[in-house]
Amino acid sequence: MSSLRIKPKVIGLTGGIGSGKSTVATEFAALGVPVYHADERAKILMNMDIELKGKLRDLLGPETYVNGWLNTGFVATHIFADPELLASWNALVHPSVALDFELWLSKQDSIYVVKEVAILYETGGADQCAAVILVTAPKHVRLNRVIERDGATLEQVESRMARQWPDQIKRKKADYVIENEILSETLKQVHQIHQKLTESLAPDQ
Ligand code: ATP
Repeated sequence: MSSLRIKPKVIGLTGGIGSGKSTVATEFAALGVPVYHADERAKILMNMDIELKGKLRDLLGPETYVNGWLNTGFVATHIFADPELLASWNALVHPSVALDFELWLSKQDSIYVVKEVAILYETGGADQCAAVILVTAPKHVRLNRVIERDGATLEQVESRMARQWPDQIKRKKADYVIENEILSETLKQVHQIHQKLTESLAPDQ
């Protein structure tokens, strides 16, 4: 008997730092949509995937891990100061996350799944998505949110923002744009997008 399983469509969810991706992702999850958090999974894999850990240690040296745990301060200082090193680092991490995602996707049984990724356009990952949702908010709002949430300095948040594409470029490419300022409005937009996706992606009867 042939398998009748239909692979769920992958909907990318992206947005700059502090835009509210995780907040939006939580609402999709509340609607029953499976959500894959690529950045969180990457952090887990960098600590747990033995093969990946070996490659990352080879790239940056023994200080990459302390007692087996990723030395995030050391890593960030080095890779964010050197674009080539950052590219090499990402070239090791991305395939591991891609494999982890495919395995996760193969276990999902829904019309669509949401894949939350901070730098989806920047890495070409949007090409593998059936549609992309961009979450946006004005820069000053995003800065204040992250400073409040992480206790980060203005300079730290601005330097992280500088490594991401500006919203005006991502807006032109996105299939859906969620303006995330007033939370109740954001949640309404999520529900509307969910309804549209459910209708447009439902298999023909
Ligand atoms: P990052 O890229 O840094 O992981 P993110 O895009 O996932 O951020 P969130 O973590 O969802 O953003 O939101 C950033 C902070 O702003 C959180 O503390 C969240 O609770 C808060 N926040 C998100 N949306 C709103 C909103 N509409 N109103 C008020 N606070 C919000």
